[in-house]
Amino acid sequence: MKISDPVLIEIVKRRRLRFMICRNCGARNAITAKKCRKCHSKNLRPKRTEIRAKKG
Ligand SMILES: [Zn+2]
Repeated sequence: MKISDPVLIEIVKRRRLRFMICRNCGARNAITAKKCRKCHSKNLRPKRTEIRAKKG
């Protein structure tokens, strides 16, 4: 699956995948979350994924 739509890429870049990942269970949480909504762990890390746009 590849994203070739420039509009979609722009949207993804703006959002920048802003959420927190639980180190305990791997669940996604809101960027404002202090605790995991699944396992209530405080062991969260911010998701910082680089946008890797493929050329061509
Ligand atoms: Zn969790």
